[in-house]
Amino acid sequence: MENIFKLKQEENKPSKKASNFTWEGLGDIKNGRANLGEETPVLVYRLLEFTMLDVLTREFGEEKALDLFRKAGFLAGKELAENLLDLRQDFSGFVSQLQKVLKDLKIGIMRIEEADEKAESLMLTVGEDLDCSGLPNTNEVVCHYDEGFFEGVLYAYTGKKYRVVEVDCWAKGDRVCRFQGQRLVSQHEEE
Ligand SMILES: [Zn+2]
Repeated sequence: MENIFKLKQEENKPSKKASNFTWEGLGDIKNGRANLGEETPVLVYRLLEFTMLDVLTREFGEEKALDLFRKAGFLAGKELAENLLDLRQDFSGFVSQLQKVLKDLKIGIMRIEEADEKAESLMLTVGEDLDCSGLPNTNEVVCHYDEGFFEGVLYAYTGKKYRVVEVDCWAKGDRVCRFQGQRLVSQHEEE
């Protein structure tokens, strides 16, 4: 006989399971919000984000909470890229359409400052970032969701894992958020 309790426990380990997220699961927003429309104030986005982070931090500690945010950002970036971007374009074409989508969705104004030929190492900035522009200066970088987001976008485009780290942030006193991305080399490739 199956041990149902054991199965349930295993189901509670989300990182071991494939994601259940679907783009379609976001619903038919246009139809569902016929009068109010598809947009909502940044205040509402941040209210959700910062209360969620607060609860996760209290439940699991800061390090785990930020890791979960980075993972959610990765999933968001990957899904957004797969559903809204043409992944077959060359790098400069891909960057232009990513810039346009991020601006159209009012996520931020993205610029690539540096990128090597194969886009294995790059530096990008986001102005008026949805997550942090206007936050009080706490002398720290706070856009860990965005770090995961760009890791997810780059993964969708290249099929390779990246590490993206925010080095400048509005919350650290900077005018733009600046992210450094580096493709991770797997052990297999190093050999
Ligand atoms: Zn930031």
